[in-house]
Amino acid sequence: MEDCIFCKIASGEIKGLRIFENDETLAFMDIAKDVDGHILVIPKEHCKNILDCDLETLNAVAKTVKTVSNHLTGNCGYEGVNLLNASDESAGQSVAHFHIHIIPRNTNDGIDGWPKFTGAKEELESVFEKLRM
Ligand code: AMP
Ligand code: ZN
Repeated sequence: MEDCIFCKIASGEIKGLRIFENDETLAFMDIAKDVDGHILVIPKEHCKNILDCDLETLNAVAKTVKTVSNHLTGNCGYEGVNLLNASDESAGQSVAHFHIHIIPRNTNDGIDGWPKFTGAKEELESVFEKLRM
């Protein structure tokens, strides 16, 4: 997709630090320098997020997320990972090309890897009635 920075990284037009790739997906270093080992996994074909990507793409991304996560814990000295995703601007998505963040973790590493939710406003039962499928 024109003017999509992650499409340009996938194609090689823009440099990325490529951790792993296959025909469908790419894992590369996030440039944020916010936490050591911050990795992004993307599909090479453009979709915006979980809401519009097809199942084949989602499967391919999930498989690469697992491959990279197992590599981090199996070969790089990490114990676990956080997986993060924002789908839609309302959820905080800032780059409109589907991506899963992988944050490698160790016990007592001091990383705050989980959002601090400030408290639900609705009754559990009424939310349940609204959400049940
Ligand atoms: P999100 O806010 O979930 O959409 O995450 C977007 C992520 O993309 C952020 O963590 C950015 O640091 C990262 N990012 C933006 N531009 C680049 C780039 N050129 N190379 C690597 N990561 C990037
Ligand atoms: Zn794109």
